[in-house]
Amino acid sequence: MAGRSAMPAGDDRPSAPRLTRAATRARALLGRWRCCVGGRCAVCRGWCDGRLCAHCDARFAFPRARCGGCALPLAAKASGEDALCLRCRLAPPPWSRVVAGVDYGYPWDRALADLKFHQRLEPIGALLGPLTAALADMHASDVRVVAVPLSRERLRERGYNQSWELARRLARTLALEARADALFRVRDTGHQLGLHRSERAKNLQGAFVVAPRHAAWVRGARIALVDDVLTTGATARAAARTLRAAGARDVQVWVVARTPAS
Ligand SMILES: [Zn+2]
Ligand SMILES: [Zn+2]
Repeated sequence: MAGRSAMPAGDDRPSAPRLTRAATRARALLGRWRCCVGGRCAVCRGWCDGRLCAHCDARFAFPRARCGGCALPLAAKASGEDALCLRCRLAPPPWSRVVAGVDYGYPWDRALADLKFHQRLEPIGALLGPLTAALADMHASDVRVVAVPLSRERLRERGYNQSWELARRLARTLALEARADALFRVRDTGHQLGLHRSERAKNLQGAFVVAPRHAAWVRGARIALVDDVLTTGATARAAARTLRAAGARDVQVWVVARTPAS
């Protein structure tokens, strides 16, 4: 046995123990999502004991190695949670890490549209499963959770902020503190589609503010900013910069889905 323990750790399978631990934690977190609800699979509507049936889970919720800066899939095998693509190494984003659960596309696009526009909150469990699993080994207990806010007009129109609905459930599962009104949007920036990168950034300037009564909660804290989809990242960048300017020690961005590069 002595000879065995003297063997260099992970001689034949270098990262096996770490991967196994991460996989076990991920499975346990996913299990927590599944154990409480039985019913129909959120994707194929087949009967199952959770939010996604085993078939859809394997087909649509598989983990991918992603860039820690933009969450696009990395071409090479992941070389750790801090791996960055070339573009992010050259122009680092204003957050320390972004974590995405899945690529934006079928079937998640449908569930996200239902959540955003049709007041259907039932798919939230299935939507959060892959993100929760991706975060299993990546979050610390002192992270404080906020959501990308809607403007007051948009909130009144929609009745709820889908990002906050995701954020508060995620925070509950991960046992983290979350506040709905720490970050707010002082003006509606309209649709960003069709705007160039610099126009988007300009359009979003001054769009977010940390509420004065939550300033102490943000100052010096590690903040996770939750959103449903990350596409250009302009909105998340503006919100992250606001949090950093308010004294947040660290900002991470956690999203359900990442739009693939076109
Ligand atoms: Zn299914
Ligand atoms: Zn990147």
